[in-house]
Amino acid sequence: MATERTFSIIKPDATRRNLTGAVTAMLEEAGLRVVASRRIQMTREQAEGFYAVHAERPFFADLVGFMVSGPVVIQVLEGENAVARNREVMGATNPANADEGTIRKVHAESIEANTVHGSDSAENAAIEIAYFFKPEEIVG
Ligand code: UDP
Repeated sequence: MATERTFSIIKPDATRRNLTGAVTAMLEEAGLRVVASRRIQMTREQAEGFYAVHAERPFFADLVGFMVSGPVVIQVLEGENAVARNREVMGATNPANADEGTIRKVHAESIEANTVHGSDSAENAAIEIAYFFKPEEIVG
């Protein structure tokens, strides 16, 4: 398996509880390397565009409100099989269903405030990375 990149967000519930380092350590321990990172306050427009695929879902308005409720840390992660590896260490969307030792099991507050985002495919990873980062901001 070749080296791959994926896109990660440390969500507002985690930055609020000062967990940026703890979450990043779990990503690094899973074999992922942070090759770009920026702390931002997402605008409503950015959050709506990022989650456009969920626009018709009942949780969309709340999700956008949550994502703009505080700072987030956007990251590009690199490693072998990075997309799947990140999804594994993140754990299930609903922390109640997440495996022991995963980021969401350890840190998530709820199905919405679930600490991290991670791309679900290599194709979406490329789209999501380009949504927030210029190529020169990624240093592998
Ligand atoms: N979400 C929510 N309610 C739900 C399902 C999802 O608030 O019933 C939020 C949650 O923050 C999740 C995000 O919407 O991480 C995107 O949902 P998705 O199904 O893509 O889950 P993920 O890929 O993040 O595990």
